[in-house]
Amino acid sequence: MAALLRQLGYEVEVISGELSPIVPEEIARSFDLACVSVLSNTAPHGYVLARELSKLGLPVAMGGYQFAHQGVEPHCFATTEEALGFAPYVVRGEGYAALPALLEAFAGQRPFDEVGGLSYRWDDGTICHNPPAALLGRDEICGLPPADWTAIRRVEAIRIAAVHGMHGCPRSCTWCAVWPRDGRRNRNNTAAAFVDELEAVLATGEYLHLFFSADNFPVYTNWALEVCQEMVARGLQTTWTCQAEVGAARNHELLDAMYAAGCRRWCLGLESINPASLKDSNKRQTAETMEQCVRTLHDWGIQVHGMFIVGLPHDTPETVRATVDWAKRVGVDTCQFLCLADLPGSLDYEAGVREQSFRPFEGAYEPLNWLFLNGHYARLANDAMDLERVQNSYRESMGSFYSFHRSLGPIFSVNRAAMRAARERGQSWWRSVREGWLYDTFVAALRLRGWSGSLNWLRGPLNRLYMRRLTADGPEAVALDQQMLATLPTKWLQTFEEVYAERLKAGTPRIIRPAEGAFLPSPWPPRPLVLSTAEVASPTMVETR
Ligand code: SF4
Repeated sequence: MAALLRQLGYEVEVISGELSPIVPEEIARSFDLACVSVLSNTAPHGYVLARELSKLGLPVAMGGYQFAHQGVEPHCFATTEEALGFAPYVVRGEGYAALPALLEAFAGQRPFDEVGGLSYRWDDGTICHNPPAALLGRDEICGLPPADWTAIRRVEAIRIAAVHGMHGCPRSCTWCAVWPRDGRRNRNNTAAAFVDELEAVLATGEYLHLFFSADNFPVYTNWALEVCQEMVARGLQTTWTCQAEVGAARNHELLDAMYAAGCRRWCLGLESINPASLKDSNKRQTAETMEQCVRTLHDWGIQVHGMFIVGLPHDTPETVRATVDWAKRVGVDTCQFLCLADLPGSLDYEAGVREQSFRPFEGAYEPLNWLFLNGHYARLANDAMDLERVQNSYRESMGSFYSFHRSLGPIFSVNRAAMRAARERGQSWWRSVREGWLYDTFVAALRLRGWSGSLNWLRGPLNRLYMRRLTADGPEAVALDQQMLATLPTKWLQTFEEVYAERLKAGTPRIIRPAEGAFLPSPWPPRPLVLSTAEVASPTMVETR
């Protein structure tokens, strides 16, 4: 987004809360517009920031995966309408066409009601949701400028560089918000453009590792193959991790190409070994194909980070335990077990799962419930598992996988599969031993981090209170809610109380929603900035973490 806006003539700076402090007064002084991008669990932080910037007189537009929804039923707009209490503009869905169009609207070159995907408040309090913008086609995506990392404030503090190159995913997992927002069509950058971007990123700093943040990198086999071949042809010396689905490991030509290009780790969507849960989540895999995939990746010397979900509709404590045992048996190197979440925009969410999710905070503090949408907190029960069981299964799974002795174990070993893979590639015996030793040492380091991270999570005051809150009711629940609120910044609480009071005073607003199936064409290409004054318009993009 920053690169596109810079190309159009705007001055843009990206401020990430992970890299540098976010100082509202400084932002309000230095910029003409703030775009606050949030994930669901960072939404409360983003709301507070948006409100603060608005009070300082800066126009604010919010966006990000929290506003991924495409549906037009009233509940689909809940997150957007909530955000409009804190910021006057929200861009729903993809921003490539919407944000430049919004800037044109600010400049008086386009009516606001022609900005696809924009939600905004009129002066009389009416909330207007424009129809969504049609997604850009692949040609248009390929015509976007490469990501401009120089736009990031304190880019030198980034240790793991994430490069995307892919928009959406052709699969349709029911909990996922990626494909509902970014579509299921192939809208990948060309392989050459993707590798250009890699080169540009690598030129901006010293990174420990590259992360291909495409949500399912090898799903378009030919494209992934081309990317890897291009990396090898250009002699890029780097190692990287990707996110991938199980079925992709069947293509051995692709695995060869990925290893040759530096791929050393797959974050693999394993989810569960429970066949009913897999089937109902639209996951086309079985415990057998998953095991085969893990073994194949190990044969290639590629590490496996298993991504599992606890509390899928057919899960029981026993199936979750069986999944953990399976992960240990087949040798998954590192893993994450996360509780099923009601991600806005996902099929589950749009089917009404939000109504069933556990949201302890009410009234003014209702938006703070988003804090618990990062997979560490039980939010959804199922027929066999109440919330406490889901939370306990999450805790036990992580505790069992990341026990101290399992974490420390690999330090004293040499990974045979990695050694064998190195030998088969023609490496000397000593170099192969070194490969095997490095493999296991790296796994041990990551597992120790997982072990300490799990323990620290359990010690967190908010987390401990949340776990107790799952089974509390009556006065005990009220007291725990108060204690949870007391762990949060006072400024946050004041902001939520203020917005709530304003809402009550204003009463129920008139809301204009688009009709089912309505779309606004994406105004493409966007118009370059036309300066009407001597001053250059300067948006800033703030990512709250
Ligand atoms: S494979 Fe991954 S990115 Fe694709 S729909 Fe499923 S969870 Fe989402």
